[in-house]
Amino acid sequence: MDVIHVLIGINTLIMIDTHTHLYSDQFDNDRDEVILKAINSGVDKLLLPNIDLESIKGMHELVDKYPNNCYPMMGLHPCSVEGNYKEVLVEMKNHLNTKSYIAIGEIGMDLYWDKTLLNEQADAFKIQIEWAKEMKLPIVIHVRDAFDELFEVLDTTNDDDLTGVFHCFTGNIEQAKKVLNYGGFNIGLGGVLTFKNSGLDKVVEKIDIKHLVLETDSPYLAPTPHRGKRNESFYVNLVAEKLATIKQIELSEVEKITTQNAKNLFKIN
Ligand SMILES: [Zn+2]
Repeated sequence: MDVIHVLIGINTLIMIDTHTHLYSDQFDNDRDEVILKAINSGVDKLLLPNIDLESIKGMHELVDKYPNNCYPMMGLHPCSVEGNYKEVLVEMKNHLNTKSYIAIGEIGMDLYWDKTLLNEQADAFKIQIEWAKEMKLPIVIHVRDAFDELFEVLDTTNDDDLTGVFHCFTGNIEQAKKVLNYGGFNIGLGGVLTFKNSGLDKVVEKIDIKHLVLETDSPYLAPTPHRGKRNESFYVNLVAEKLATIKQIELSEVEKITTQNAKNLFKIN
């Protein structure tokens, strides 16, 4: 480690981007730069949710290249659930049996684009929750326009040991309370928290910070002032700053607490 690196390390805090798609082709031209920028600024743990069979290779390559910084998850995203989902899940389960992953994700339900595969999405979600229970891994949940349908599945599958995070949470206070009532779940906050008129600040005000983890969901949902542009893990700082303003506490407190929450949930050091 060189001197400059050490100095940067002293002036910044260690943070975790709990949800980042750094293997996305949107980073094909500058992936290493983006990753090193995050790491050198103190965002030194980057958690990679899987999407489908195609995304696995790029994700594994990142984990091989940055074994102390990039951590993989395994799972089928609800928007990628199609007629052949059972076969896809068999392949994913093989990966889970041969390599180590920090979570089952991202999984869940999304009825924004298409409601016709509701039953298939619910079934794929259930199957992957069972994996999580069996392997004692947290689940990373994606939900859009499907809170009621997703809660219906969780109501019947949740138990004392199941843990996870509702990633990029944008629900209301009733939905937040329902999430926390399950007992083992955290709420993931990303760029939407910084959007004017998102209303999420009012919800987050009422949630104890001990339940919150930070993320970017990059390359999507860049925080203000980068809204509409490509997001990257370094910007998780902007989400932390906004949370510090909402909670009226020091930025360093926000970083310390949310980092510890993420470490506890994903069992990383
Ligand atoms: Zn995602």
